[in-house]
Amino acid sequence: MSDFLQLSGRTFLVFGVANRKSVAWFVAQSLESQGARVLYSVRSAARKQSLEALLAGKPVFLCDVEEPGAVERLAAELLAAGHRELHGIVHAIAFANYREGFKPFHETKRADFLQATGITAFSLVEIARAFKPQLTTDASVVTIGISSLQVTPDNYGYLGPIKAALESCVRFLAKSFSADTAVRFNAVGAGPLKTSASAGIPGYLESYLYAEKLTFRKRNLATQEVANAVLFLLSPRSSGVNGTTLVVDAGLGANYFDQEIIRLAMRPAT
Ligand code: NAD
Repeated sequence: MSDFLQLSGRTFLVFGVANRKSVAWFVAQSLESQGARVLYSVRSAARKQSLEALLAGKPVFLCDVEEPGAVERLAAELLAAGHRELHGIVHAIAFANYREGFKPFHETKRADFLQATGITAFSLVEIARAFKPQLTTDASVVTIGISSLQVTPDNYGYLGPIKAALESCVRFLAKSFSADTAVRFNAVGAGPLKTSASAGIPGYLESYLYAEKLTFRKRNLATQEVANAVLFLLSPRSSGVNGTTLVVDAGLGANYFDQEIIRLAMRPAT
């Protein structure tokens, strides 16, 4: 069937392109390949400049979600530029201060926790509120969560509970928007990827390689696989999916008892 996803001719606002490896970039590229129009929102003027070659000729806007009023300003700017209708929004933004390296969870500083919560989780609420008038009645909003909120990786630190808040916000937004719209909110729960956000996590490479051994297929995710799931959730083909997380992890969350890992862990010390 041609144009199965029915995304052609629709307009999407995508937050979070930092570079060619970003989840947001894979999503945006895929949307454009389906004939959709993408409006880009990037964090800073410096970022916009570094993306000049990649985003040449595309509509690029600035929004640092940490700045009070920035999301509302962006909504007004889009309106002023004639973008009155959005069929969906992609929120692929996260931030945690790992500058001090690995710290036990209970040593998390209040300022760091609140800053990361504002950027990673509450920004979704602010974006939803600011763009509500522009969203078509059947629009779809998708954010990027993590593949499991149950696991407790030491090096991911306080971002774990904040991703739990993000996913809870998804459900509450889906509910509150349902009062007067059919706008849907969902998350894609992604397993470990190779992006600049993950490169900032202390000791990430080892965790990434370990996670690969835990996948059923013994091969980590390609970022495109996450983008594909986002496209499905943005499309009218997922109309029955709302307030949930679609896990894309190549099976790792169900593979605690992987034979190879058991063998390696139980190998007698030499
Ligand atoms: P990335 O570094 O390419 O993207 C993160 C984006 O967040 C960047 O574009 C950055 O500019 C933006 N951002 C940070 N602070 C901001 C602010 N104050 N205002 C506006 N934008 C801000 O990395 P990514 O992996 O593509 O991250 C996208 C999403 O995917 C994040 O939510 C991340 O947690 C999630 N995710 C990533 C992985 C992984 O392994 N990389 C796994 C699961 C989920």
